[in-house]
Amino acid sequence: MADGTIFIFGASRGIGLGLVGEFLSRGWRVIASERTHSDGLHALACDHLSIVTADVTDPASYADLGLADGSLDAVLINAGISGAGHQSSDKATGEEVAHVMMTNAFGPAKAGRTLLPKIRDGGTLGFMSSIMGSIADSTGGYELYRASKAALNMLAKGLAEQDAKPRDIEVVALHPGWVQTDMGGQQAPLTVAQSVAGLANVIDDCGGGGFRYLDYNGRVLPF
Ligand code: NDP
Repeated sequence: MADGTIFIFGASRGIGLGLVGEFLSRGWRVIASERTHSDGLHALACDHLSIVTADVTDPASYADLGLADGSLDAVLINAGISGAGHQSSDKATGEEVAHVMMTNAFGPAKAGRTLLPKIRDGGTLGFMSSIMGSIADSTGGYELYRASKAALNMLAKGLAEQDAKPRDIEVVALHPGWVQTDMGGQQAPLTVAQSVAGLANVIDDCGGGGFRYLDYNGRVLPF
């Protein structure tokens, strides 16, 4: 699709910022969110880019972004954190658990539900998950992050079955690969450019109902 419109939630840096540039280069119109002013995002300013302010943990911040119903081909909720504190279930505090779970799972699910009416029938709702949210693939470790992405996968599947199916909107949970970002670290094998080129192909091919858990090459991942 050369003239689609996508909303990317969490686009100030890293993979989200890379996706903004990738979709603009493909001729899409992009609405991108930042929490606070992002020089990188504003450097992409052009006719096809609108920038809004939103926090995925604060529903009031995205309740009215001025988007018309049915105006978007795709929404991608990319916002996520690894969690700066403890990861193990015996050490993580209630506040740490609440913060990571709200940012990575329940916040994105709530934002997805709120934004669903803005997606056209037959469009796509994507959530940036991780292979670390796969229960089948898990080798343990990083418990809080893994649990938050597994929860996101579950919430995305439920949203697909309960909310998106009647309008043939496809819901996808995406793994971007291990990517060189603030979160992924510079030892990661993939550049942002490599990851977002694949992700944009995958999103472009989505739509038409159902749920899938896919990596950036379109490979189906074990739930
Ligand atoms: P970065 O840490 O580089 O960027 C995270 C992005 O999420 C930033 O734009 C950040 O905004 C935004 N964000 C964080 N919290 C919030 C919030 N409360 N509201 C709105 N936006 C928020 O991470 P990556 O680019 O590497 O990761 C992007 C996504 O991909 C995440 O969901 C991550 O879990 C997932 N992922 C990444 C992998 C990797 O190897 N890098 C591997 C697997 C999954 P701000 O600048 O305001 O903090």
